[in-house]
Amino acid sequence: MNSIQAAIATDPNTPFTLGEYKLEKPRADEVLVRIVASGICHTDIAVKEQSVHLPLPMVLGHEGSGIVEMVGDAVDHLVVGDHVVLSGDSCGSCHKCQHGLPSYCDEFVERNLTGCRVDGTSPLSAEGELVRGRFVGQSSFATHSIVPGRAAIKVDKQYPLELLGPLGCGLTTGVGTVMNALRPSAGSKIVIFGAGTVGLAAVMGAVLSGCQQIVVVDPVSARRDMAMSLGATHALPANDAALVDELLSLTHGGADFSVECSGVPAAVNAAVMCLARPGWCAQVGATPARTILPLDMDHVGFGRGIKGVVMGDSNPQTFVPYLAALHAQGKLPYDRFVKFYDFSDINQAISESKSGEVIKPILRMPT
Ligand SMILES: [Zn+2]
Ligand SMILES: [Zn+2]
Repeated sequence: MNSIQAAIATDPNTPFTLGEYKLEKPRADEVLVRIVASGICHTDIAVKEQSVHLPLPMVLGHEGSGIVEMVGDAVDHLVVGDHVVLSGDSCGSCHKCQHGLPSYCDEFVERNLTGCRVDGTSPLSAEGELVRGRFVGQSSFATHSIVPGRAAIKVDKQYPLELLGPLGCGLTTGVGTVMNALRPSAGSKIVIFGAGTVGLAAVMGAVLSGCQQIVVVDPVSARRDMAMSLGATHALPANDAALVDELLSLTHGGADFSVECSGVPAAVNAAVMCLARPGWCAQVGATPARTILPLDMDHVGFGRGIKGVVMGDSNPQTFVPYLAALHAQGKLPYDRFVKFYDFSDINQAISESKSGEVIKPILRMPT
């Protein structure tokens, strides 16, 4: 048992609290990772605030990067000292895992959203009591984590490790939704709703795919400016009643693709209504629980559709190293919207993320 530091989320009204916890040694299929840094994603905030209902208290965080310190006997792709980006856990043997889509694993919920292993245990404890320490395979708001070998992705040591954690969620989701799920051909027109980390990553994915027109919709002008600087061709505010008409006019009859990253029900509708025929909308943003939306079936019937996309339909073991290489080549400049914080400033980082002041906060862990 090691003593480690972690930030616990207890309830919506209590700030994250740093404390000392006990961490087990890794089991045969697990590795011990010293977390170097962890991005903060909106899902962490949504769980803390219980707009996404998962059990608390729990150690959250799911954009960790770090260095392998111990390797279980059954893990054969990692050695001590490897640099890793952490991603979600998956079983490795179900139909979807075997087809390279682990984010649709049959055991996705049990392995990632309970904060425990599938057998109900957790590697983390305090005074002999279980502490949920397996959020999205990692619970990376901590100095150390025990993660399943499958959730640890080896990356080249030449890359800036403290910057890489968001590749495991936000960047994989945004770039992957465009490049893996929608696959626009060169010259396509695409509209992206929401210019947070995922939407901006979708903009970069659209640039990499050779899209001719990349229209971003976001209420925050600084985010629209960031989208334009990353290669968007147009940026519109979201609060315009004539938004769909403007999009249809800008795209000369409709977009080939749209990506909905905001989760706002009105934006979901606009993301379908702005499509040409044929046209596909990828729904990525988490809508409020039990949202039911009417769809204009006269519109959808003409070759249009909407599909939910999780983690950009990516296999993180291959996609994350690809993204790291793209960043090293200057083709994925997400560092431009990152701000680093000390781990102890986690509550400040979250409030600056919620206010829209910062797009991607990353916590640096103490060494
Ligand atoms: Zn996330
Ligand atoms: Zn599986």
